[in-house]
Amino acid sequence: MRLLIIGPPGAGKGTQAAQLAAHYGIPAISTGDIFRQNIAEQTPLGVEVQHILDAGGYVSDDITNAMVRDRIAHADCEPGFLLDGYPRTRAQVTELDSMLEGLGCALDAVVQLTVDEDEVVQRLLLRAQTGGRTDDSEDTIRKRQKIYAEETAPLVDEYGHRGLLVRVDGLGEVSHVTERLVQALDARR
Ligand code: ADP
Repeated sequence: MRLLIIGPPGAGKGTQAAQLAAHYGIPAISTGDIFRQNIAEQTPLGVEVQHILDAGGYVSDDITNAMVRDRIAHADCEPGFLLDGYPRTRAQVTELDSMLEGLGCALDAVVQLTVDEDEVVQRLLLRAQTGGRTDDSEDTIRKRQKIYAEETAPLVDEYGHRGLLVRVDGLGEVSHVTERLVQALDARR
């Protein structure tokens, strides 16, 4: 099972990615988590991207693509994987296509988690109060929403044209959203 999960910042992608990965027995790979781990460890990559994440911008396609290419070639990805936060730009879509072709596999589905914009801003501000991430300030949240709308939302149409899109409402209790996701994905199989 090879899946992508797409949705605006605050849609609950990370939470649902972990649930789905456990359900289907595949690794959840979050580019944001990998960047944050590198920052925490102050690796050369972490030092390079820290200011970009703090400002809410996107890391360059070159850096991000190389990181994902390396990660999905690991043995644990042989049964499949769920990518969370990648691809985010058209260039990344093209690059992912070529990676999958090289590995001789294809995506099974692209999950779009939909949520109301006001709701997601509230969720992120709440996360900030409870000791969340350094990029959860109101200014940065708004910037991340804007970049998402400009750069990433159009990718949903692309995957829609390919017949891969599964749209699921991200509002409600975590377990209910997971149930909806699993039902929608299993209905395709
Ligand atoms: P969010 O839910 O706010 O989108 P993520 O954990 O997915 O959070 O990503 C956090 C940050 O990591 C992004 O704001 C961006 O700076 C960087 N990032 C993650 N994935 C990518 C990507 N595919 N391309 C470029 N930058 C990325």
